[in-house]
Amino acid sequence: MAITVPQDVMAACSVLINAGFQAYLVGGAIRDSLLRLQPTDWDIATDALPEDVERLFDRTVPTGRQFGTITVVGDGRSLEVTTMRSDGVYRDRRRPEEVEFTDRIELDLARRDFTINAIAYDPDRRQLIDPFGGKKDLRRKLLRTVGSPNERFAEDPLRMLRLVRFQSVLGFKGERKTELAVEARLITYVSPERILIELNKMLMGRFLQPALEFFYHSGLMEEIIPELASSAGISAGDNHPFDLLGHSIMAASFAEPDVGLRWAALLHDVGKQVTLKREHSAISAEMAKDILTRLRASRKLIGRVTTLIAEHMFDIHPQSSDRAIRRFMARVGTETAFDLIKLRQADLAGLNENPRHILAYRTAMEGRLNDILSQKGALTLSDLAVNGHVITAELGLKPGPKVGLILNYLLDRVWSDPSLNRPGQLLELARSYLKTLG
Ligand code: ATP
Ligand code: MG
Repeated sequence: MAITVPQDVMAACSVLINAGFQAYLVGGAIRDSLLRLQPTDWDIATDALPEDVERLFDRTVPTGRQFGTITVVGDGRSLEVTTMRSDGVYRDRRRPEEVEFTDRIELDLARRDFTINAIAYDPDRRQLIDPFGGKKDLRRKLLRTVGSPNERFAEDPLRMLRLVRFQSVLGFKGERKTELAVEARLITYVSPERILIELNKMLMGRFLQPALEFFYHSGLMEEIIPELASSAGISAGDNHPFDLLGHSIMAASFAEPDVGLRWAALLHDVGKQVTLKREHSAISAEMAKDILTRLRASRKLIGRVTTLIAEHMFDIHPQSSDRAIRRFMARVGTETAFDLIKLRQADLAGLNENPRHILAYRTAMEGRLNDILSQKGALTLSDLAVNGHVITAELGLKPGPKVGLILNYLLDRVWSDPSLNRPGQLLELARSYLKTLG
C-alpha cells in the first residue's frame, strides 16, 4: 500500500536525499497511515548527522541534539529529523548510555518499542521496510515488542505504559508474552513527566475501558495511582451496579474525549473510599489534586479537574427553576456549568443508566443553560443594572458590608425574575430591603 506523504514532508526528505543522505519516514505516521488513520506528526530518520541537518535547513531547533533529534521548523508544521541510531546499553533505565549512530535503517528500527512502530517508509523508492512483521501485527491488531519484551521493558519501563496507551488508542491487544512481561514496579524508574504524557494520551483513547482494565490488572495503576487502584472491590453506593473502580472506569470511558473531563470522570469518586456521604466530592478533589501534582500536571489541568470534581454533586436538574439554574451558573461559571453536565452524563453512564435517558438528560440540561444565556437576565453581580457606587449614592449609605448584602439580594431577585434588572426597579427593591436590615 502506498503511503500518502504530505508535500512539505516530502520536500524535507528530498533536501536530505539530494544532499546524498538517506531519508525514511518512521514511527506513528507510518503506523497510522497503514491503519488509514490521520497521522499526527511525521518523523524522519536519516543518516545525516545533527550538524548536517542544521546546515541543510534554514530554521531548526536542537530539541534533542544529544540523541540526534533536530526539529525542522516549517510553515505549517514542524518535523522531527532524527539521526538513525542503534542504542547502546541503557543504564539509568531511561536513556541509552551512549548513542551510536548508524547508517542502517534496520538497526534504527530494532531499537523501537513495538513492531507496529518499527516500520519505515522509503519515500524515494516508495517501499516499506518492515523487518519485524509490523504490518502483520497491524492486521492482527497485536502489540508485540521488537525482541524480548522483558529486556525491552527493563531497558525503558515507559514502554509498559505505551503498551496500555496503544491499547486504548488503537483498540489492539497486547501479545500474551508482551503482556506477561509487564513488571509494574519498574515504572518507578520513569519520570512523572513522561508518565503523564502517556497517561494523557491513554485517556483520550476510544478503547479506554479495556485499557484501564489492563492498567489495573497489570499492577501499573497500583504503582502510579494507588489511590484509584485501592477502590477496586469497594462499594460505590447503594444504587451502584459496579464497584467503585468499575464505576470510575465506566465514567471515564464514556466521558467525551477531553483530557480534563476524562481525568475528572476517572477520579471524581476516589474519595468514596473515605465516605459515601456528600463530602466525598471535596475529598476526591483533594486526592485528585495530590495525584495530578505528583504527576507534574499543569496548574491549569489541576485547577479544571479539581473544580469539576468538587462540584460534581450539583443538584440542579432539567426541572429546576430558572433561579436555581442561574444561581448555579453564577457560582461555578458558564463554561464549568456545561462541563459539569458532561461529567454528570459520564457519571450516569458509570451507573449503567439507559443511554437514551443519559442523552435526554444532557439535551434537556444544555437547553436550559442555553435559554438562560440567551435571556438578558443578570448572572453575576457585574451584570446587575446598578453597582455599589449607585447604591451608596442613591441610598445615602457609606461603603461597607451592607452594600454587599444589598447587591447580593438584588442579584437573587433578578435570578428569579430577569425583568427586574433595571436601575429604577432595583433601587426600589434595595430601599425596601434596606428597611428589613434595620
Ligand atoms: P503518536 O505520535 O501518534 O503519539 P508515536 O508512535 O509516533 O505516536 P512518539 O512518542 O511520537 O509515538 O514516538 C515516535 C516513534 O519513536 C515511535 O513510533 C517508536 O517507533 C519510537 N519510540 C517512541 N518512544 C519509544 C520508547 N520509549 N522506546 C522505543 N521506541 C520508542
Ligand atoms: Mg509521533
